[in-house]
Amino acid sequence: MAYQKLRGDQLFDGQKLYGNDVVLLLDARGRKIDIVPVSEAGEDIHYLPGAILPGLVNAHCHLELSHLKGRIPEHTGLVSFLQQVVQQRATEPSIIEEAIGLGLQEMKDDGIRAVGDICNTAHTLPFKTQAGIRFHQFIELISLSEAQLETRTAAALQLRERFLNEQPGPVSLSPHAPYTVHPAALRWLNEQTREQLITMHNQETPAENELFQSGTGDFLRLYQAFGQTSSPIPVTGTTSIRAWLPYFRNGQRILLVHNTFMPEEDIVWAMETAERNGVTLYHCFCIRANQYIEGTMPDIPLFQRYGCRIVLGTDSLSSNHSLRLTDEMQTLLSNFDSITLEDSLRWACGTGWKALDMEPVWLTGSAIIQRLQHRQGA
Ligand SMILES: [Zn+2]
Repeated sequence: MAYQKLRGDQLFDGQKLYGNDVVLLLDARGRKIDIVPVSEAGEDIHYLPGAILPGLVNAHCHLELSHLKGRIPEHTGLVSFLQQVVQQRATEPSIIEEAIGLGLQEMKDDGIRAVGDICNTAHTLPFKTQAGIRFHQFIELISLSEAQLETRTAAALQLRERFLNEQPGPVSLSPHAPYTVHPAALRWLNEQTREQLITMHNQETPAENELFQSGTGDFLRLYQAFGQTSSPIPVTGTTSIRAWLPYFRNGQRILLVHNTFMPEEDIVWAMETAERNGVTLYHCFCIRANQYIEGTMPDIPLFQRYGCRIVLGTDSLSSNHSLRLTDEMQTLLSNFDSITLEDSLRWACGTGWKALDMEPVWLTGSAIIQRLQHRQGA
């Protein structure tokens, strides 16, 4: 027999939730061939108790920050949070590595099978060769001025080489956030990331838009730590996304992360700009991190109404209590009445795989759907 026939109590195919009256056909390499009614599936059907579904995709994580779990107070606002991360992230390698191992296990136990992981260091590298999870690594670039560009890009390229050579997953360079990446670096990144998947933290706090609109606000506190009295990033008089998105014109797929303070007119503007410039946008929500840092959440149903491609992430353990995507889904379901179980599954294990451009890994005998149904009803 060239393929497997699997039947569960439920089946989710990445788009739609079925009952137990269908059979999933997988080829010898575990790739989906078709879904057919039981009556047409013939003999040799394997029954697996529970649900069958593609593994969950955590589209935004910083696994290397796992040792900061429980170290930073909640509801400080983004600028104070970032200052704490900078102050506390350096510590003994053994502490960092132990926390990475625990974070990885937590994700695996949760049914996560692919991760978009932000990397500023090589600490996670040894864990990625046989993790049982596939990774897309985003090598993060921070470059506040033209003067910094050469040293910052050289360091990012060096880290990219290490990941390319020493682990099996795809690797791309990515800008950290609008307030830490100078236009000179955006131009350089546009050239370096042709046809690649990249990511950017987007509109995570009201201060981010204020910085670009008027050059004022909370981010000046962040720059003071680097000895700057005003914004090193040019003030454009616009919201932040309008200052950086037009730099990308080389067929990139761009994962916008957070979008907590992305107004409706920016959602529309970004879609039109992306279309015009030949780039594809994905919107990644990490709502438990937003609750942790800013005490708020994005209006996700608004993004749904505009047909945005939605994916989910946990962000890091510096701003979350777990790396479980089912916790993110449960929080979604209990906070937004209009979001259905099927929506959350489509984002976590349908669109997530498309965003990372990876072939789904199927989970069998999993209790994920029953757990979420129970939580939704609870
Ligand atoms: Zn993040």
